[in-house]
Amino acid sequence: MVMKKASKGSTIVIVGAGYAGVAAANRAARTHTVVLVNERPDFVDRIRLHQHLATGREVRTPLTDMVRPGVRVVVARVERIGDGVVTLADGSRLDANHVVVATGSGVGIGSLPWAEAARSALGALPQGGRVTILGGGLTGIETATEIAEAHPGLSVSLVDRSRIGRNLSPAGERHLRASLGRLGVATYEEGRVPSDSDLTIDCSGLTVAPLAAASGLPVDDVGRLRVDSALRVPGTSRVWGVGDAAVVDGAPHLRMSCAAAQAMVPHLVSAIRAVDAGRTPAALDVGFAARCISLGRRDGLVQLVRADDSPTTAITGSMGAVTKELICRYAWGCMTWLSRLFAAPRGPRATTRRETEAARG
Ligand SMILES: Cc1cc2nc3c(=O)[nH]c(=O)nc-3n(C[C@H](O)[C@H](O)[C@H](O)COP(=O)(O)OP(=O)(O)OC[C@H]3O[C@@H](n4cnc5c(N)ncnc54)[C@H](O)[C@@H]3O)c2cc1C
Repeated sequence: MVMKKASKGSTIVIVGAGYAGVAAANRAARTHTVVLVNERPDFVDRIRLHQHLATGREVRTPLTDMVRPGVRVVVARVERIGDGVVTLADGSRLDANHVVVATGSGVGIGSLPWAEAARSALGALPQGGRVTILGGGLTGIETATEIAEAHPGLSVSLVDRSRIGRNLSPAGERHLRASLGRLGVATYEEGRVPSDSDLTIDCSGLTVAPLAAASGLPVDDVGRLRVDSALRVPGTSRVWGVGDAAVVDGAPHLRMSCAAAQAMVPHLVSAIRAVDAGRTPAALDVGFAARCISLGRRDGLVQLVRADDSPTTAITGSMGAVTKELICRYAWGCMTWLSRLFAAPRGPRATTRRETEAARG
């Protein structure tokens, strides 16, 4: 079989320099001309934003320090995406053989301004001030525990309309509850709410940028760009979606996460290379290995999961904290020095699905 070599001259414009965008830029740089467009000059390490809001930990790194030589960084807000063209806020255009939408989910909740506002509001609270964290998902749990540990003088409540920790294994949920109790975080679940609060921090869900919808591209009911199993936007030949900004046809197990965003990248770059070489891109085949939750700096919960994200066993306590920290560093490596070697866990197999259904009864 004669394989056509991917053309080095082919240009990829990647919109959004988060975990997916930076990893894709560095991975593709060897074979393509890459332009990485981001609305700010630095990368924001969003998986540490709860640390930033509770302790002031720095989360910004200049993008130019993260990309390989040859990747061109353009600092601009993208207003519109077309098939092979990107329009910037000043009206100028970037032409491309491929456009990758990697604009993430940092609108409001879980953004740097959200963390900075929470941080300054926390700093203004008096001793004994009451903080309510709205939403008992992973972001809410990490935020509540980080604040409780860093600000022991504040009274922290975690509120969710359902049972907090319901998606964990029984051992994982037990550990979570013990940790919340140890840190003095009061839980309000299934309709119960605290009677009063001095500060509410909303952790009730991540929101995607309106760019795809504003560009007339197909989106789901929360505005995520619809892509096919190869990560390409149906009806276009060279617009791709990756990370939190995209919802992948046939992959309902992929929740918004840094883990999934980075897992999609090797496939994305291979798919673009396949198209350049005149081949049909393969279908995405990625899944999860773990959900990593920090419970302050000295405690953690690494919930091991099957490829379809259903829980198995849990690593807890100080071992959980160390594992979570190593995984945060690994995520950094996957974007930078490891970007060309990183391989994602494979997606759910029929047997995994059967095991999960059996476990659910
Ligand atoms: C407190 C917290 C803790 C978390 N912890 C974890 C964790 O432990 N594990 C995990 O897997 N996930 C975690 N997440 C979720 C994770 O941060 C996101 O899923 C991840 O950031 C998605 O990566 P991404 O590359 O798709 O997009 P993002 O990281 O959101 O990056 C998107 C980029 O696109 C830019 N952009 C957007 N619109 C435009 C535009 N129009 N023009 C130009 N640039 C644009 C943005 O400025 C941003 O730089 C956490 C989230 C939060 C808030």
